[in-house]
Amino acid sequence: MKTIFLDRDGVINHNPPNKGYVRKWSEFTFIPNARRAIRELTESGYRIIVITNQSGIGRGLYSEEDLMDIHSRMVAEIGKAGGTIDAVYYCPHHPDAGCECRKPKPGMLIRAAREHNIELSNAYLIGDWTTDIEAGQRVGATTFLVLTGLGQESYYHYINAKPCRHADENECRPDKIFANLYTATRWLR
Ligand SMILES: [Mg+2]
Ligand SMILES: [Zn+2]
Repeated sequence: MKTIFLDRDGVINHNPPNKGYVRKWSEFTFIPNARRAIRELTESGYRIIVITNQSGIGRGLYSEEDLMDIHSRMVAEIGKAGGTIDAVYYCPHHPDAGCECRKPKPGMLIRAAREHNIELSNAYLIGDWTTDIEAGQRVGATTFLVLTGLGQESYYHYINAKPCRHADENECRPDKIFANLYTATRWLR
């Protein structure tokens, strides 16, 4: 089974303004066609796992319970649209905590691979920020940047980057760039 890792904010749902945080369900809005994209990926036989940095918990802006509520509703809404999220992994830590899970570190990917028996070199990772791409590259996944969320800012970062895929090299371009999750999905199907 092929696995796709999806970043959450900026890929599935809109980033709040000014690099803010989704603190509760009422602040969560799906990016157009994201639910349809996940349904089509599910229908194509992909296992879909969300990996998301949620340092707002470590910063005290919302609680782990708030996040669980957001995720259960997100998974339910995607389910109503016909899509399946197999698992959600999140890093709740403050950036200064030095944890092993906050992207660009690949801790969440490695844990998911262990728990779901995933061959990471055969997996895809779709994200809107350079740290998503770097985390995927560190484990040898195929990486797609989407231009929703912070993706355009990331794109400008990559204009001068090398087209390489070295581990621990954060100046590497993603393998492909798409307008949004749905156009990435069309390519994957
Ligand atoms: Mg993001
Ligand atoms: Zn962490």
